[in-house]
Amino acid sequence: MKRREQKGQYVSVQEAARLAQVTAETIRTWVANGHLPAKREKKVRIVYQYAILRSSLKTARQVRCKYCDRLFEARRPRKALFCCAEHRDRWRYEQMKKDAKK
Ligand SMILES: [Zn+2]
Repeated sequence: MKRREQKGQYVSVQEAARLAQVTAETIRTWVANGHLPAKREKKVRIVYQYAILRSSLKTARQVRCKYCDRLFEARRPRKALFCCAEHRDRWRYEQMKKDAKK
């Protein structure tokens, strides 16, 4: 059974960009690589319009740190792996030690 969608549950790419404080281009990238769930709507000129789930925007910038497993807000969620430079360095150091044992 399909649940009825509530009004205001979905936002446009532009609105999503404003809410997440990123560019529309970033939103489109997130949609394209599956980082952000969205429904594809009609094509306007050359680009598809998307309906983006509003609630997913809250977590769109969240990334789990590879070192401490903590959730943090990243400026570039697709590239961020660590919550801070210190954890990045520690993780790299531990990888180096592991590699040295081999
Ligand atoms: Zn961390």
